[in-house]
Amino acid sequence: MSPERQRDAAWLDALPGVLRDEPLARHSQFGVGGPADWFVKVSDADELARLLRRCAEGGVPLTMLGAGSNALILDGGVRGLVVRYDDRRLRVIDDTTVELGGGCMLPRVALDCARRGIAGLEFGIGVPGTCGASVYGNAGAFGTEIRDVLADCDVATPHGDVRMMSNHDCGFAYRHSRLKDELQGHVVVAARFTVRRDDAGAVRKRTDAVQAQRKATQPYGVRSLGSVFKNPQGDKAGRLVEAAGLKGRRKGGAEISAKHANFIVNVDNASAADVLALARLAHDEVLRQFGVDLEREIILLGDAAPAMSSATRATA
Ligand SMILES: Cc1cc2nc3c(=O)[nH]c(=O)nc-3n(C[C@H](O)[C@H](O)[C@H](O)COP(=O)(O)OP(=O)(O)OC[C@H]3O[C@@H](n4cnc5c(N)ncnc54)[C@H](O)[C@@H]3O)c2cc1C
Repeated sequence: MSPERQRDAAWLDALPGVLRDEPLARHSQFGVGGPADWFVKVSDADELARLLRRCAEGGVPLTMLGAGSNALILDGGVRGLVVRYDDRRLRVIDDTTVELGGGCMLPRVALDCARRGIAGLEFGIGVPGTCGASVYGNAGAFGTEIRDVLADCDVATPHGDVRMMSNHDCGFAYRHSRLKDELQGHVVVAARFTVRRDDAGAVRKRTDAVQAQRKATQPYGVRSLGSVFKNPQGDKAGRLVEAAGLKGRRKGGAEISAKHANFIVNVDNASAADVLALARLAHDEVLRQFGVDLEREIILLGDAAPAMSSATRATA
């Protein structure tokens, strides 16, 4: 074992609560994915920033995982350290601002806000992911996106500090922010949203309406990753995949949903390879039949082929 690997293994193994060779399927709503060399949950922003710096300085790859409702974790797992940022606090700052920890689940936030008579985050009932990842990907549902309601956010950086970014700094676009490219490696630890006071019953009614629309149009109560492809300009990816005749098509344990063709569902212990094969089929058929080159919305994390983890290599 090289001295560097021995050093990595020693300090990573010593992290409080760290799990070695941890199957990530256990930590992903989709229930798919190979192991992380090391996996840890962190809920303090400064602690996370120190960890980001230590990994950056030591050349240890670090991957963030939220609820795993958009990220397909590949079958070979993820090398290095996988971190779940777990601060789930919701703080009402004043009548126009709430602050969410990066680990807050948006459906829970939507329900909490409705109970407290806070309007503006009703759309979150349709986004079953964390606040941090939703800022990262500018998530949106039923007419509202994160960029419409975000005031500013705090990000932990690979330099070991935590800094504030305004809505403008985030450079939002359709399912995109600068955190995905220029600011790769920065992690959203908290975000403040512009809200307004309203009657609790009225907010709940709107939240329920979003939920009802979601249940009527999307596979519900089954494991999926949301929309597999972004909607192309002026059209819907789901309509195109359905028109290509692929609704209900199955590969291994994965299926193109019979309810909404832009969803792939994990019906029976699917592998990531099954999901990718269906996504590739949908992409290629839509291109062949309609000349539309669909762009993937789901995010791939890790390695396709099973490999010996660095945790295992470190002790081999
Ligand atoms: C049934 C269903 C319906 C959905 N509907 C919608 C919808 O209507 N609109 C929509 O936009 N999405 C939708 N999604 C997709 C998904 O819920 C969102 O993309 C959500 O924002 C992902 O959050 P997550 O915590 O699950 O992220 P993950 O899937 O865990 O991770 C996504 C990405 O975020 C990164 N990341 C994780 N945490 C952080 C952090 N703190 N800071 C920076 N980066 C981080 C990860 O490294 C990864 O690259 C749906 C998914 C499902 C299953």
